[in-house]
Amino acid sequence: MQFIAQPLPARKRVALVAHDNRKQALIDWCLQHRALLEQHELLATGTTGARIEAATDLAVERLFSGPLGGDQQLGAKICQGEIDLLVFFWDPFEPMPHDPDVKALLRIAAVWNIPVACNSSSADMMVQSALMDRSFEREVPDYQSYLAAR
Ligand code: PGA
Repeated sequence: MQFIAQPLPARKRVALVAHDNRKQALIDWCLQHRALLEQHELLATGTTGARIEAATDLAVERLFSGPLGGDQQLGAKICQGEIDLLVFFWDPFEPMPHDPDVKALLRIAAVWNIPVACNSSSADMMVQSALMDRSFEREVPDYQSYLAAR
């Protein structure tokens, strides 16, 4: 696989997802970082987005609920370069009916090299990085050379 540099913009498109037992933790985290999150663009799976909007009054673009395809919608947006950060508080204690979708979302985030945080401490460190408010280049698969080689 060959890679090319692709910039992440200064204003980040931040995807937010939490499983049911982790939703309150993500809401608390959003409240804690409300002023910072307001500077960026927020997207979320359906229920997570509704709960965050109600609790924080932040504007959140809502996709489908996770078990109905929202995780896959986020994955497609990552492939298309439409998401810059993923904050995904997945539940380490409960199996999920849509576990294949959860795995697929985490896999595609790794493929396209976007920053991912799965708990509040990693999310704290991620959004407080000096790179949060400026553009920076990351490596992504070079799709054109991948296609040409097939
Ligand atoms: P939800 O989906 O925000 O609609 O609850 C999250 C998930 O379970 O993936």
